[in-house]
Amino acid sequence: MLWDDFLNSVHHDWRGDGAVEDRLDDPDWLRKWLKQQQFDLGLPNSNELSNLKQLRELMHRIVMVLVSAVSPSAEDIQALNKVLADGPVIRQIATTDVHYRVTLSPTGHQWPNVMAEIAASFAQMLADGEPSRIRICDNPNCLWVYYDDTRNRSKRYCDDKMCGNLMKVRRFRARKKAEAAMPPSEH
Ligand SMILES: [Zn+2]
Repeated sequence: MLWDDFLNSVHHDWRGDGAVEDRLDDPDWLRKWLKQQQFDLGLPNSNELSNLKQLRELMHRIVMVLVSAVSPSAEDIQALNKVLADGPVIRQIATTDVHYRVTLSPTGHQWPNVMAEIAASFAQMLADGEPSRIRICDNPNCLWVYYDDTRNRSKRYCDDKMCGNLMKVRRFRARKKAEAAMPPSEH
């Protein structure tokens, strides 16, 4: 989805110490992302880039209150609406032999249109989905934002095979270490 891909463009070194890498600063990542999202647009200038980061901060702030079961502030909703007002994009359908695909071309404002589209994807999820299913990965070095679509709402990690396993190993090691550090029992 557009909104979570965008939010997770702040990458954390989940295997290591959680070091942060901002992928919006990486032109290669940006180009790939634009292509993947079917946006027909060049790289942002420095002003547009800082607006993008501001939008990401805004969405992240809303996610942070939602995971604590609090409602977003009226100011933040207003700010989101301001971004949404810069839409729309033009949708066109393209066909290949077997597939249909919708391409999005920003009109007029270019990057602001893309930002409106990102905000729309986020707003749609809030309105049509269940905001209480938004999660932040339990690996403190990962903090990946995701939507928990499991039946029993029990998803604790962005990926059970990756962060889930890593945390299992860490818990195991911590237990072994604690056991080793314990004084021998008095018998
Ligand atoms: Zn994770």
